Amino acid sequence: MPRYEYRCRSCGDTFEVNRPMVRSSDPASCPAGHDDTVKLLSAVAVGGTKAAGPAPSGGGGGGCCGGGCCS
Ligand SMILES: [Zn+2]
Repeated sequence: MPRYEYRCRSCGDTFEVNRPMVRSSDPASCPAGHDDTVKLLSAVAVGGTKAAGPAPSGGGGGGCCGGGCCS
């Protein structure tokens, strides 16, 4: 079951809710009982801005020779 992250605009808390995908757009109440919540992107989807490894543009066609580590 997918996990969705919400943020409460009343108390600023963030919380996660496990729910079926068909109910992903349903309103969720924060643990404190507030209804003014917004759905955030899933924690899995965000945080992917860092590349897993160096990917130099215009390299020499793969390998480690892009940065001169084996020149
Ligand atoms: Zn709240």
